[in-house]
Amino acid sequence: MIFISYLYIGIDDTDSPEGMCTTYLAAHIIRKLKEQDIHIADYPRLIRLNPFARFKTRGNGGVSFKIINDDKAEIAKKIVLDEVSKLSMFDCDNTNPGVIFYEGEITKEMRDYAFRAIYSFITIEEAEEFGKSVGCEIYKFKKGRGIIGSIAAISLPLDDYTYELLAYRIPENYGTKRQIDYNSVIKMDKETFPDTFENVDYSERYIAIEPKTPCPVLYGIRSNDVSGLNRAREIVKVSEPVEDYCIFLTNQHTDMHIQKADNISQMRQFGCYEITVTVKDTPHVIDGGHMFFKVFDETGEIECGAYEPTKNFRNIVSHLRPGDVIKVYGGIGEQHTFNIEKFQVIELNDVEYKNPLCECGKRMTSAGKNKGFKCKKCGKRIKSSQKVSTKISRALNNSQFYETPVSARRHLSKPLCRM
Ligand code: ATP
Repeated sequence: MIFISYLYIGIDDTDSPEGMCTTYLAAHIIRKLKEQDIHIADYPRLIRLNPFARFKTRGNGGVSFKIINDDKAEIAKKIVLDEVSKLSMFDCDNTNPGVIFYEGEITKEMRDYAFRAIYSFITIEEAEEFGKSVGCEIYKFKKGRGIIGSIAAISLPLDDYTYELLAYRIPENYGTKRQIDYNSVIKMDKETFPDTFENVDYSERYIAIEPKTPCPVLYGIRSNDVSGLNRAREIVKVSEPVEDYCIFLTNQHTDMHIQKADNISQMRQFGCYEITVTVKDTPHVIDGGHMFFKVFDETGEIECGAYEPTKNFRNIVSHLRPGDVIKVYGGIGEQHTFNIEKFQVIELNDVEYKNPLCECGKRMTSAGKNKGFKCKKCGKRIKSSQKVSTKISRALNNSQFYETPVSARRHLSKPLCRM
C-alpha cells in the first residue's frame, strides 16, 4: 500500500468588516500554488466554529486545505505566509491572523479539539499549547488569535458535509453594488433546489446568495453536491467580471454545533442544543418585536426567544400554547435566552378546559370558590366545580418541523430540506 504524507494548512482571522475574506485569501493562495505546480488534494475546507465566539467578524469560519508533503512543501509554506502577510486586514484591531502547518495523521485529540472549538471557547494560549503538543508549526500575526480556528479547520472530521461555491469579484469592484441578475438567481433556485439550498428567502424577498458586506465575494451557492453547484453556476447571470471561483467542502448546514441535551439543567450559556421540553406560557412580543416564551422540564425552566430578524417565524411561534411538547434547536446567548433556530412539535396540547354548558345552551359562570357553577340566563346551578374538557383545533401540526427563514439562519443550522 502506498502511504501518502500530507501537509495540512490552516488559515483564520485575516478579514475585517471592511474587507477581505479568509476563503478569498485561500482561493488566491491555491492559485499561487498552482502557478508553482503545487496542487491541493481534495477540496479546500471552510469550517464554521462556535457561533458565539467573541471576536468573530461574521460567521466564525476558518479555512484549511492539504497538499502532498514533498520537496515543494517549503515553497508552499512560503507562499502561504507571504500572502497572509500581504493581504490580511492588519489595520483592524480584531484581525489577528494565525497560520498552522501540520504534517501527519489527524489524531483523535485533534478531532476532540476541533469539537471543543465548535462547542466552547478556547484561548490563544490554550490553542498554542495544544498545537505545539501535537506537532503543529504555528505562525501568529499580531495576537495570532487565528491559530484557534486554524487548528480546528484542519482537524475537524466531516461525517456530514455540504459544499459552497464562492464567486469572487475583481478588486476594482469591492464595495460597489454587486451586478447579479436576481431573476437568474430565482431561476437557478427553481431548477436546482433542493440540491442547492438557501438561495432565496421568498418570504422576505431576499437574495441570500449575495453578501451584504464589502468583501471580495460576489455570491455563494450552497449545495449537497458539486454537480448541483456546477448547474447552478451555469444559470446565475452576472454583469461584472468574476476573478475566480472556488468550491469549499464545509460543515455548514449540518447542525454540527448542536449537542443533544437530556434536560434543561445540562444546558450552559453559549452552548447550542437540541432538547425536548414543554411550553409553560403563551408567547408574547416585547418592544423591538422580539418574541419570548418559557419552557420547562423536570429539572428547570428557560426562556426561549424568536428575535425580530426571524420575521414570520414569530407568527408560527405565536401559535404555541402551554402544555405543548416540542423539540427545540438553538443556542443560549448573551441574555441567557435560548434562541430558537427550529422546533419540531412532539405533542400538541389540544385540550382546553371550560366552564360547563347549561341545559339552556349558555356557558355557565363560577358560583364562587368550590361552589360549582351557575347560569346567568336561567338561574340553574350545579354543585361540581369541575371544568369540562373540549378539543380545540390548532394551527400547528404534530411531528412537523418549523424553522427560521433563510435570511435569519445560522451558517451551521441544518435546513429542513436537509433533515
Ligand atoms: P469570516 O466568516 O468573514 O471569515 P469570521 O467570522 O470567521 O470571519 P474571524 O475573522 O475568523 O471571523 O474571527 C474569528 C476568531 O475567533 C478567529 O480568531 C478564530 O481563531 C477565533 N475562534 C474560533 N473559534 C473559537 C472558539 N471556539 N473560541 C475562541 N475563539 C475562537
